[in-house]
Amino acid sequence: MADRSNASPIVRSLRPYTRLQGNRQVAQKQSIAVIGGGVSGVSCALMLSREGNRVTVIEEGHIGHGCSWGNGAQYNAGSAFPMAHPGIVWKALPWLLNPNGPVRLAPRELPRTLPWLVKFILTGRPQAWEATYSAIHSLNQPCAGLYREMLGDAAWSRLFRPHGALHVWRNVALSPQDQLVDSLRTKHGVRFERIDAKQLRDLEPNLSREYNRGIYFPDSGHVTSPPELVQGLMDRAEGFGASILSAKALAIEPKATGVLVQTTAGPQSFDKVIVAAGIASRDLAKPLGVSLSLASERGYHITIPDVASAISRPVTDAASAFVATPLNEGLRVVGIAEFDSPAAPRNPMQGKKLQACAKLMLPELSPDNLTEWMGVRPSTPDSLPIIGPHPSNPAVLYATGHGHMGISGAPMTAALISDIVAGRAPRLNNDRFRVR
Ligand SMILES: Cc1cc2nc3c(=O)[nH]c(=O)nc-3n(C[C@H](O)[C@H](O)[C@H](O)COP(=O)(O)OP(=O)(O)OC[C@H]3O[C@@H](n4cnc5c(N)ncnc54)[C@H](O)[C@@H]3O)c2cc1C
Repeated sequence: MADRSNASPIVRSLRPYTRLQGNRQVAQKQSIAVIGGGVSGVSCALMLSREGNRVTVIEEGHIGHGCSWGNGAQYNAGSAFPMAHPGIVWKALPWLLNPNGPVRLAPRELPRTLPWLVKFILTGRPQAWEATYSAIHSLNQPCAGLYREMLGDAAWSRLFRPHGALHVWRNVALSPQDQLVDSLRTKHGVRFERIDAKQLRDLEPNLSREYNRGIYFPDSGHVTSPPELVQGLMDRAEGFGASILSAKALAIEPKATGVLVQTTAGPQSFDKVIVAAGIASRDLAKPLGVSLSLASERGYHITIPDVASAISRPVTDAASAFVATPLNEGLRVVGIAEFDSPAAPRNPMQGKKLQACAKLMLPELSPDNLTEWMGVRPSTPDSLPIIGPHPSNPAVLYATGHGHMGISGAPMTAALISDIVAGRAPRLNNDRFRVR
């Protein structure tokens, strides 16, 4: 078991809301629009409204029904690395060439994705990779504690299952890459335990006997229902006076003071606007001269009702890049990185691949009455979200680009946004997350 005697300095630096009130660091109240009611936007709405700001969440659909609706529900405290890593090209190429593999690049999306792919490959260089992991870790590691503070004990206990997470492999031998990953995790104080086949069975008796080894992460876990998480955060925000405007944001127009948001419900004036519109953030940014490096990385799920108890925690098949999680809705199996236009029709092949993966992981499973879903991850090439002000207009801020890790990254994202809006020094160095 890796040593974690030096508890993270990030956790120690969290400023509880009550202390903020107590020492009068509360900045002047502002009117703030948050565009997008996913986990990122609603987390920002909660953090900003509880500091006394007048917050309006502008959502064109339903709260929590974008990418945040159907994800794998896992939160990672040190278990997740940037998607690009040393040697990723040699791993991803066979995946791309294999029609049954987990990666697909639609030819129509190639011109938009090519520059993104170049940056993605560069992130995989050893030194860049380590620095990026460090930044991701600092953002994600405190997420469970922050959610507890945001939701309150009762809602947190209802929604959170801090039962750890497992990564599993069929092959027995550790590669040099595995050893590098272990050393990085240890360096960052992440608790993990490499376990053998017997220990795997003890933790998850229903897993295929073909799995021979794993890693157990005791500080990761999952939520019981992603939409209920987002709704729970929104309920809390409304308790602090936040409101919802059911409308589509069409354009953002910075003014001498503040900002005008053109919406399908008419123009709305605010002191500041937070763009947390998932993949649509790049379209809203463009007229303001910002080209956000976001790819539309579509992921899929299948959810099989009534069999969630087959496992007790998220299980990642590391070689095939899919994850199974037990949820209120049923057993959810997620995966696939499909680079295609957000509006392109769902690809029925992808659900079939996930069904096959589920059967390989849990051979006794009967995937009856399953439901299928596709969501668009707003993915940056370096896996780091975009958090902070527009380069020349401080009234416009961005909170997007969480890719595969929105649940884990949203609370610290919201904390950083609330620091910036209040004019405080961000509680975490946010240079790596700036608009780019
Ligand atoms: C298959 C899959 C599995 C995943 N598993 C996990 C996991 O296990 N753990 C994890 O941490 N992350 C996971 N993720 C990633 C996670 O779901 C995302 O990072 C996260 O949901 C992004 O949240 P968001 O708030 O930025 O975007 P969204 O949830 O997409 O929210 C954006 C919102 O903005 C609204 N909107 C867009 N444009 C406008 C407009 N112009 N006006 C008004 N509203 C607008 C949309 O309707 C939407 O509600 C997974 C993703 C997928 C696809």
